[in-house]
Amino acid sequence: MRPVRVRFAPSPTGPLHIGGVRTALYNYLFAKQYEGTFILRIEDTDQTRFVPGAEEYIREALSWCGIPPDEGVVAGGEYAPYRQSERKEVYQKYAQQLLDGGFAYYAFDTSEELNEMRERLQAEGKNAQYDATSRMSMKNSLTLSEGEIKEHLNSGAPYVVRVKTPEDEDIRLNDLVRGDVTVHSSTLDDKVLLKSDGLPTYHLANVVDDYLMKISHVIRGEEWLPSAPLHVLLYHYLGWEEKMPQFAHLPLLMNPDGKGKLSKRSGDRFGFPVYPFDWKSPESDEVSPGFREAGYLPEATVNFLALLGWHPGNEEELFSLEELVQAFGLDRVSKAGAKFDIEKAKWFNQQYLKEMPDSALAEYLLKDLSENGIESSPEKAEQVCGLMKERVTFPQEIWSTARYFYQPPEQYDEKMVRKKWKPEASDALLAYTKILEKSDGRLSAESAKEQLQKLLEDRQVGLGKVMPALRLALTGQGGGPDLMSTMEVLGRNDVISRIRKAVDHLDRNN
Ligand code: GLU
Repeated sequence: MRPVRVRFAPSPTGPLHIGGVRTALYNYLFAKQYEGTFILRIEDTDQTRFVPGAEEYIREALSWCGIPPDEGVVAGGEYAPYRQSERKEVYQKYAQQLLDGGFAYYAFDTSEELNEMRERLQAEGKNAQYDATSRMSMKNSLTLSEGEIKEHLNSGAPYVVRVKTPEDEDIRLNDLVRGDVTVHSSTLDDKVLLKSDGLPTYHLANVVDDYLMKISHVIRGEEWLPSAPLHVLLYHYLGWEEKMPQFAHLPLLMNPDGKGKLSKRSGDRFGFPVYPFDWKSPESDEVSPGFREAGYLPEATVNFLALLGWHPGNEEELFSLEELVQAFGLDRVSKAGAKFDIEKAKWFNQQYLKEMPDSALAEYLLKDLSENGIESSPEKAEQVCGLMKERVTFPQEIWSTARYFYQPPEQYDEKMVRKKWKPEASDALLAYTKILEKSDGRLSAESAKEQLQKLLEDRQVGLGKVMPALRLALTGQGGGPDLMSTMEVLGRNDVISRIRKAVDHLDRNN
């Protein structure tokens, strides 16, 4: 097998969609599995669609996912530059080669003439496109005399270079996901290869660069499958069939209900992010929400995306990036569209979150705390995270659901109060504060429990009668992590004052 060289080749026309991240990921996994090279090429020849900040966004997305390119813009490499707008001259040479070989031609038609042609063909019930059947009635270097052609070229009037597609030929390609694909040339149109501004279109630039950069496999989204026959044709026309990469077209990402392609609008409609991180539109300032800000961890996002369209052949679901590199294979990429199941993404997040070291999770909590003007030692934040991480899906939920670790409750869960706040419990809790007050040393979960148990035995009150009331007093809530450990984190003074406050408040109001 030739050395594996794959590329992720996005156009910087906006934020990178999560489907694009999956394409990048599959390229990365494939490259690493074969000890090959993962390249980032920026396809920015369509200047009209260029969006400032989009390239930076793409690069940051790859870095957030932990899949940095080995070669490409920024990383550099033997085949630089990797930004197509910086390679303009390269393409002109190959357009000329196609013209000289009779595989392409100049077209001088104005947009009015093109519209006229489309209307005419439509009225005749024909395929309304510039192709083998219509090109001879148009203004191009196939229909004009040599003198006229020269005149047009020298006049300064805009012109394009079009590919000359064969009239009646089967174009075949073998796709590593879809198998043999055959397309009849009559369905293809004479696509523009070089535009009037002298820049190539996607098709020419893409094929030329894949060839020059020695790309071995083209792994990209299914939306590019219709372009593949033209690309195959160009490899033939340019005499590069020996060096043609193998193609693998990845299944589309579908909406959760299986209806339609996952898009920005589906994100708005179903209420989940479809971008790796927040994107602020430079024109409207509108923010499109991202996975990162929603609290998804990069490892969980990567694991989730890997399984959207690929399956490992067994029941395993949790894969680190290294494990994915080992397990991945294009042979187990499915043809059918992959349903975007956000519940599954949440499940992955939970799995990764609970395995995260407390210290790493504490970074998130410390940030939320400082945003809310609360100071905390890293040690306390770690303890809180250790207690909460099994109970949340996203890091920010630790602050939103367990702020009682930092602020005494202002309110108490009313339903629980009605059910569980009884004079017996309240008396016992008050007695408990007296015991706590007298004891010395650090309040540990064990000592807190021992003292409470002893007290309740003496009073002949069951633990079940007092624990819910104690939780209410300390947290205001009916549920939460281990209560004795919660007391340890709160510390003796806080525990005592919270019980007193609750007794005062709830006895009076009950
Ligand atoms: N520039 C194309 C895109 O934006 C690349 C398609 C391909 O990988 O060939 O996705």
